[in-house]
Amino acid sequence: MSTITMKFGGTSMGGHDAIAQVARIICDHADQGNRILTVVSAMSGVTDMLLQAASTSAAGDEATHITIIEELRKRHHETAEQLIRSEKLREALLEDLDSLLDGLNALCHSIAVLREVTPRGMDLISSFGERLSARLLAAHLNDLGRNSIAIDASDLIVTDDNFQDAVPYMDETRQRVQEYLVPCLENGMLPVVTGFIAATRKGIISTLGRGGSDYSAAILGAAIDTDHLWIYTDVDGIMTADPRIAPTARVIPVLSYGEVGELAYFGAKVLHPKTVQPMIDRGSPVRVRNTFNPSHPGTLIQPQSEITAGAVKAVTAIKDVSLISVEGRGMVGVPGIAGRTFMAVARANTSMLLISQSSSEQSFCFVIPSNRTAPTLAAIRDELDREIQRKDVDRIWAKEDIVIITTVGAGMRGMPGVAARVCGALAAHGINILVIAQGSSEYSISLVVAADDATKAVQVLHDLIA
Ligand code: ADP
Ligand code: ASP
Ligand code: MG
Repeated sequence: MSTITMKFGGTSMGGHDAIAQVARIICDHADQGNRILTVVSAMSGVTDMLLQAASTSAAGDEATHITIIEELRKRHHETAEQLIRSEKLREALLEDLDSLLDGLNALCHSIAVLREVTPRGMDLISSFGERLSARLLAAHLNDLGRNSIAIDASDLIVTDDNFQDAVPYMDETRQRVQEYLVPCLENGMLPVVTGFIAATRKGIISTLGRGGSDYSAAILGAAIDTDHLWIYTDVDGIMTADPRIAPTARVIPVLSYGEVGELAYFGAKVLHPKTVQPMIDRGSPVRVRNTFNPSHPGTLIQPQSEITAGAVKAVTAIKDVSLISVEGRGMVGVPGIAGRTFMAVARANTSMLLISQSSSEQSFCFVIPSNRTAPTLAAIRDELDREIQRKDVDRIWAKEDIVIITTVGAGMRGMPGVAARVCGALAAHGINILVIAQGSSEYSISLVVAADDATKAVQVLHDLIA
């Protein structure tokens, strides 16, 4: 008997047909004698709607959240009516959904009165999507005659209080999972756990960041000592590029933990960047598969992949970023300016996605998320105030509307000429490279280009590897 942890994303939970398909996959594997832990995302689009409800309420707009909540009620009710045949189960489910939605309504109302929403409040509001969807699937499994239960991961995953991007405490999580979740699995139940959400030690709801349900599944999978982790989504696996940008993208059959970490980190939205972390110590395989094409083997992620010399395996893009440059002739040979700048960036609570220094030492630059630009510039200017006065630093500025394009593949390690090929291909298509940087693991090369060139750049680099 194997234990399989399955995670289903937003499109897989997007409506009654999709949820019925999810249930078929779960039941098929359970009938083959496996223990199945299921982790689910909110129905597609729901998290965005909840965040909009929170921010409009905080702006004092009392109307929008009411419309949003009614839309959510309609969609979840309709799905429930289609999925659940037993009147008793259906009535109980609708009551459960309504009580959640009424609670959400009251919360939005208080935010509108206060005219303020904290990250902690955002997490509480955005937790409703998964709480609703997990109940739909569990009720459907029960309706099919299975023994299922919806569990809120806020009772299982313990995190710090870094709301909207919380970090799990694995030992405490494992203890709770062993206490509450493992007995369900041992009793042959089919538990459905909410992705994305968790709670602090004090029991306050937190989330693991956007797209975090993949990470939830890995955390819970590690805590139950799962044999397999399968991430079910709406494409056949991890592909050589986002198929929406590069229509000729192909599924990559095997990737290593290292490669997938870089791919996800550099913007392949298909998997949350932290997903493989809990699996690394265990060495358990992860698979990315398609809910709507379940016989496809998908992408296998394992400790090592077969290394193909010279091969770049995939191209990714990160949008909504800004390039910050620090320039000054007086910086030459003055130690510590870069170090102090990076400390200031860290103090502003901003993460840097890429760093590059020109060899002349007259400037360095780095890329940060666009929404952190103003506080980060202020923090750097404050830190380098003396150097600015002395004119050692001439200019600290941000360039918006840029994109990081990254090519990833273990075969690039120690291979000369890859960067030249990449740059040559872009130049041939008239695409200007603003910055180039190599990942320290040598699994990746990243380039910064203007946002207008992004689609073309992904296509050109994808043609290079195809
Ligand atoms: P889910 O809701 O199942 O978690 P996501 O929308 O988070 O799904 O991720 C799946 C989507 O990621 C795909 O529909 C695809 O458009 C996009 N995507 C971006 N880059 C890649 C890639 N390299 N391989 C596959 N899909 C990708
Ligand atoms: N529902 C959450 C989001 O949209 C988490 C997830 O889908 O993984 O970000
Ligand atoms: Mg996702």
